[in-house]
Amino acid sequence: MENSIRIAEVLLPLALAQAYSYAIPDGMVLAPGDFVEVPMGPRSYLGCVWEVNQSFGTNMKLRAVTRRCDAPPLSETHRKFIEWLSAYYLEPKGNVLRMVMRVPAALDEPVLQKALVLGEVTPAKLTPQRARVLEVAAQGFAMRPSELAQAAGVGASVVKALAAQGALKEVGLPPHAKFQEPDLNAGAFTLNKDQVIAAEALRQMVAQRGGKVALLDGVTGSGKTEVYFEAMAAALAAGKQVLLLLPEIALTAPFLARVERRFGCAPAQWHSDLRPRERERVWRGIATGDARIVVGARSSLFLPWINLGLIVVDEEHENAYKQDEGVPYHARDMAVLYGNLGKFPVVLSSATPSLESLMNVDRGRYLLVKLKDRHGRPELPETRLINMVVEKLEPGQWLSPELVAATAHTLASGDQALLFLNRRGFAPLTLCRACGHRLNCPDCTASMVEHRFRKILQCHHCGHQEGVPQACPSCGEAGKLTPVGPGIERLAEEAMRLFPDARMAILSSDLSRGENLRDTLRGIEDGDFNLILGTQLVAKGHHFPQLTLVGVVDADLALESSDPRAGERTWALLAQVAGRSGRGEKPGRALVQTYLADHPLMKALARGDRDAYLDGEKRIREMAGLPPAGRLAGIVISGKDSGETLRFARDVAHAAPPAEGIKVLGPAPAPLAMIRGRHRIRLLVKAGREVNLQAFLSAWLKDIKPKGSLALQLDVDPYNFL
Ligand code: ADP
Ligand code: ZN
Repeated sequence: MENSIRIAEVLLPLALAQAYSYAIPDGMVLAPGDFVEVPMGPRSYLGCVWEVNQSFGTNMKLRAVTRRCDAPPLSETHRKFIEWLSAYYLEPKGNVLRMVMRVPAALDEPVLQKALVLGEVTPAKLTPQRARVLEVAAQGFAMRPSELAQAAGVGASVVKALAAQGALKEVGLPPHAKFQEPDLNAGAFTLNKDQVIAAEALRQMVAQRGGKVALLDGVTGSGKTEVYFEAMAAALAAGKQVLLLLPEIALTAPFLARVERRFGCAPAQWHSDLRPRERERVWRGIATGDARIVVGARSSLFLPWINLGLIVVDEEHENAYKQDEGVPYHARDMAVLYGNLGKFPVVLSSATPSLESLMNVDRGRYLLVKLKDRHGRPELPETRLINMVVEKLEPGQWLSPELVAATAHTLASGDQALLFLNRRGFAPLTLCRACGHRLNCPDCTASMVEHRFRKILQCHHCGHQEGVPQACPSCGEAGKLTPVGPGIERLAEEAMRLFPDARMAILSSDLSRGENLRDTLRGIEDGDFNLILGTQLVAKGHHFPQLTLVGVVDADLALESSDPRAGERTWALLAQVAGRSGRGEKPGRALVQTYLADHPLMKALARGDRDAYLDGEKRIREMAGLPPAGRLAGIVISGKDSGETLRFARDVAHAAPPAEGIKVLGPAPAPLAMIRGRHRIRLLVKAGREVNLQAFLSAWLKDIKPKGSLALQLDVDPYNFL
């Protein structure tokens, strides 16, 4: 069969829906999943072999695969995962592959680092400096030349001269530290009765190896983490890799330390802050199977898993699992998909589960595993509403007398208090008292937010910054610009006035990040601070044992919006914040300032009756056909010219094929009608759950090609309606 050639269909990590054909050169052995380098146009690209075929044609002028990379092949499950995700979100396969191939350097064998050990030759002249170097080298560790020089306290030239004579000899050192093997019994607690039952249910799921999903539902502090650790231990014992997904914000040092204590080894981490070297190490460790435990943000799903046996999605209700930019996907949903494809269980954990997951329990698709009590304590903290309609506060004052008194009392008794306001900056709005002009972002439909600590005005949508003007840019009057409403910095001013002796910590994403944030969190845990002011940064995951009072300054902030999940989100946030209180020895309480004290959500919150609230919420969604009772897809059409954008949006809407059970709403200007100078128009597709939404969308959109500055972004199962 002399004319037969072997052809590799290679998918490239580019916005391409299809793989391209390349000839496999003689002597090269390729299989699906292999990473290869191929030419395209004048360049060469790294890609992944999707298929290998035999062809008998002779007139094919295919370019050939240049080389096979050294990385282990992408598993069949992972390739299926890419296919499914691409089909679900109507995203070119190449774009999904790009998320897997984010670390191209990891595809090739790591370059060994140059290191030195003792050689066979005795140096001609043994100076004291040389003797010191040889003494260090004689300890038997391979060291980099600079390390060796440093350890011996000599200059680099001494080491170099010894190496040149052969008194030191060069060896290659692997550039990455090894991953440690977990010790499954390292730090296990003795579980209480409820926890034992829950852990057993999860362990059984792991043993069965089906693609089952469990919802682990229990109030904050009930021991969900300890329980899912048991499921992880079971999967690890079976030789599998495990992935623990966290919202990025919850990936804190104390949490990682807790995982390390439990499993006797540092887990691999995966998040946006990693250094390139660590990225390579983890990517490769996952591909080879050496990394067994990964704690990571949503993008960890795309790591090249070779032997994954369990995914735990902690805080599964979190919106942070939804990616809006690039390929829009929901990591919780995709974790469930992955488990299905890979035939391994997925555990979703939350104190405030999403309606999506609760409805899947109702439908019998997910197993409900419930933890009733807070470990060693009966309930959530006592929660009281403060009706702000009847409180008459002075202008510029945001804390009610009751909250002030409770805070003072808490501080006096040596405990910690947390005041929560989910708004960054000093004031959300700045108005001119003379002419009413409002300081807006020049490029967005949004007001500029004053950040007084940093002495700037900032747009929270595009990041645009300006200095704070002295005079009104509209009428020119000086000294009339007035901040309106509170942000966390303004609250800090008030708190400093009221509690001058308090040791205050302010936690807000623009004030504290990275190391700085970690220090502050540690300081809070150690009791260096007793009054904590925070935005949603403090709501999640932290364990502050001395905290006994949580004051919510404005509980209504997120409640009134057109987002169908606004109520659900508010509930989750408030319950999480309240749950920070009373996690240690002493009981805690929460005071919630609201202008909507009669709202069903607030009433249920005060009673601690989550199920009553959720039942009401479920009924609303069912009546309105909104998710999870129905399905949505959002389309944002944007462009530089407002008229052109609107015309294009109308054309798109017009092209929608008729379909039963599907409604296309809009076009209408988006609530954020302009971002970064781009005009935005929204369409919303609403469908029943039984409808094949993807088929409808692809039939509709396949021939629509935005031109010039126009863009169309499709968002299947949207979480953002701005
Ligand atoms: P959740 O994840 O539900 O918020 P955690 O697992 O973080 O709850 O548990 C809350 C606290 O109680 C943690 O400090 C944890 O170490 C402790 N804890 C939970 N279960 C036990 C147990 N069985 N024995 C001892 N301490 C426990
Ligand atoms: Zn802006």
